[in-house]
Amino acid sequence: MAWLIPLLVDETTTAAAATDDNPFQPVLDFFDSPTFQAGLKLGGFLVFALWLASAFFVFKDARRRVADPVLIAVAVATALVFPFVGVLIYTILRPPEYLDDVRERELEIRAMERRLGSDQRCPYCRTEIEASYLVCPICTSKLKAACRRCKAPLEQHWKVCPYCETEARGDETAGIEAASTAALPRARRPRLPSQSG
Ligand SMILES: [Zn+2]
Ligand SMILES: [Zn+2]
Repeated sequence: MAWLIPLLVDETTTAAAATDDNPFQPVLDFFDSPTFQAGLKLGGFLVFALWLASAFFVFKDARRRVADPVLIAVAVATALVFPFVGVLIYTILRPPEYLDDVRERELEIRAMERRLGSDQRCPYCRTEIEASYLVCPICTSKLKAACRRCKAPLEQHWKVCPYCETEARGDETAGIEAASTAALPRARRPRLPSQSG
């Protein structure tokens, strides 16, 4: 074992000599090395790409959540001016819902309201009826006229069938008009086409 001692002593002395010179020399050498320089450039490029991608993400996301183009521009500008922090601010402040979802929900609510509030009733016997009924199923009163061509139920004041563009003849609905407007409460009376015009 004795032969090891001189080796160890030798090594420690040479190491001590190197550290006396400049203790950070190996570190400085590493910073100067082409490997590190290349790594630095690559890292810089990645950060730059990430910055651009983050701004693009804000643009894409804001377009789905914000309708106002000015606000979208402000969000993208924030992401560009404050790299990464801007994206964070945007994610905190952005509207929680997509515009499509908001629109869909509004449509659903409107459809639900229509279903709940439809409450159409026969003007003669007050039986609940559906918009497509031509005749009241209880008192058999004629409620609507069927289109001449496509047989779709037509409202009394319609001048043309909205489904097939066939003109609604006056005689189809005239009889119903006279009878039903008399029975309808005043507020519910449909607007009739003016007789003079
Ligand atoms: Zn009825
Ligand atoms: Zn029709």
